[in-house]
Amino acid sequence: MNDSGTTTLDAEKATPPRPSEAPAGPPVGGGFLLQPVVCDVFTRERFSEEQREIERMVREFALERIAPQREELAAHNGELTLELMREVAELGLTGVDIPEQYGGAGLDKTTSALVVEALALGGSASWVVTFSCHVGIGTLPVVFFGDQRQKERYLPKLASVEYLGAYALTEPGAGSDISGLATKARLADDGEAFLLSGEKQYITNGSWAHLFIVFADLEGEGNTAFIVERDSPGLSTGAEENKLGIRGSSTVSLVLDQVRVPKENVLGALGGGMPIALNSLNVGRYKLGAADLGGCKQLLGVTTRQALDRVQFGQPIAFFEAVRRKFADMVVRTFLLDSAIYRTVGLMDQRISALDPQADSYQKQVTSALEEFAIEASIGKILGSETMFRVADHAVQIYGGNGFSEEYPPAEAYRDCRIDRIFEGTNEINRMVIYGYYLKKALMEELPLRQGARQWRLPAVPGDAPLAWEIGALDAARRLTVKCLFEAVSLYGQDLRNAQVVGEDLADLAIGYFAASAAVNRILRLDDKLRRSSVYRALARLSTATFLEEAWRIGFRLRPMLFADPIGRRALADLDSLLAAMHLPFDPVDEIRVLTDDLYEHGGYRFD
Ligand SMILES: Cc1cc2nc3c(=O)[nH]c(=O)nc-3n(C[C@H](O)[C@H](O)[C@H](O)COP(=O)(O)OP(=O)(O)OC[C@H]3O[C@@H](n4cnc5c(N)ncnc54)[C@H](O)[C@@H]3O)c2cc1C
Repeated sequence: MNDSGTTTLDAEKATPPRPSEAPAGPPVGGGFLLQPVVCDVFTRERFSEEQREIERMVREFALERIAPQREELAAHNGELTLELMREVAELGLTGVDIPEQYGGAGLDKTTSALVVEALALGGSASWVVTFSCHVGIGTLPVVFFGDQRQKERYLPKLASVEYLGAYALTEPGAGSDISGLATKARLADDGEAFLLSGEKQYITNGSWAHLFIVFADLEGEGNTAFIVERDSPGLSTGAEENKLGIRGSSTVSLVLDQVRVPKENVLGALGGGMPIALNSLNVGRYKLGAADLGGCKQLLGVTTRQALDRVQFGQPIAFFEAVRRKFADMVVRTFLLDSAIYRTVGLMDQRISALDPQADSYQKQVTSALEEFAIEASIGKILGSETMFRVADHAVQIYGGNGFSEEYPPAEAYRDCRIDRIFEGTNEINRMVIYGYYLKKALMEELPLRQGARQWRLPAVPGDAPLAWEIGALDAARRLTVKCLFEAVSLYGQDLRNAQVVGEDLADLAIGYFAASAAVNRILRLDDKLRRSSVYRALARLSTATFLEEAWRIGFRLRPMLFADPIGRRALADLDSLLAAMHLPFDPVDEIRVLTDDLYEHGGYRFD
């Protein structure tokens, strides 16, 4: 795969990539804004045979083992939760990200994402959180930063779930801001170990975990990560939190009272805790988006069937226009999320596949490759959590009174997914990651934003080219985004970090463009007949329109920022030209009808 802009798509004939905008070499994080719209994006249609086989196997497990036990799992049945964890371990699913020599399967990031997506089809968000915490933040710090001894000692046990993993960073006084940890570590008098004291809160898997990755402020060194085993004297856990959702998962406080941790259990360098904390979360972010994707598809299926069964005013409610509109929104946003998640893991895999697995520093290089796509990882997290919440909200509404009853699936899904906007970095923090990275990349001249902002004039896309309107409109939105980013960096400089309203709008432009251009490229790749079918035409149109609507509103809101300054006033005229280029040459109601007729015929989401 190649996201650098060189492509063999037939639409390319109509929109040749502009060489000055197409960055050469491996893909760079956030670089999608400076590429032509039409580029080579990885999609699920390009899964290998092995990936498809794994997906089939995991789906089967989710539908046969998880789905029938959803209610038991939601009722906090620890024994059942762990039994299912051991079953997926036997299938090799807890070792996807663990290298083969340590008992794992050492597979690519695409497989790792599709596994969690497929598991989420079982409809138990609680169980998926347990799984995700274990394979993600509970295991990856050792994969990425462990030394040989630590990997040999812990990874085989984590792969087989003999040990369940947990990650303890948050404290009562340190949540989004982890710069001042109150948990302290000091060297023991015998010089052989460190003594850890303090309290962590909201620790997923806490009641069941055998191993905790604990972050503490080490005397004289600062934030340091430690591998702490459960049976260490002085370690205890509190009562289960009484939570709004994911009630079947374990969330407790962790109390450390002079817990003795051998020196060899320091993870990474003394004082090197911060990059470990952040890099592990980075992976958790796009994988949370993948889990949400499975959740959206599952809920869309049950809600479709309910709407076709429920008759009011003499007809199934599915056929009322106001209901169709909600379903179309669910399908389009799920398709956007689907396209964005696999574009992201495709970029990561592309970069990782260029590395030498035999090199001593291989894991370090993998970590850097993943960090390179921090913007895309945050996009996956925000898009996943907000799409899932929207889908769950529509589902509650379509179920009517039953949607408010715990007897039906939407209520639990609605409560369960609320946490997704809070953990793995709140969505506010993740939006800060996006505009913060763009600011840094612009100031360090890692991304040619200035050059991109100058090239704002729209290229002519021949009207008869495939998806000509979508490509032209997305290009206008892309240029609008680059222009606004550049103007904001010029106006605010480093202060952009504090101009959060503008920053969030810029992040939303980048998120929307990333997903919409992924979706349109995905459709462009289909064979001619499929691409021209009315349902894919509706998907392409509505995917683009969904983002354009947002871009319009944001462009409108950014006017005062641009107007406040002479540079901005010049940019405003450009902005107006860009906004004027965005219009809908079709009636969305017709497209909504096409898309929902197709949804009802198939009984659920079918763009897999
Ligand atoms: C069910 C559950 C499971 C969890 N699992 C784990 C786990 O396994 N391990 C772990 O270490 N932690 C875990 N957490 C903790 C979670 O990661 C934190 O709750 C989260 O990072 C937010 O921190 P906080 O709760 O302290 O909120 P705060 O940081 O106090 O934030 C409160 C609000 O202020 C906003 N805010 C804060 N700073 C800024 C800023 N600079 N700019 C703009 N807005 C800002 C936030 O976005 C948020 O809306 C879990 C939490 C829950 C509820």
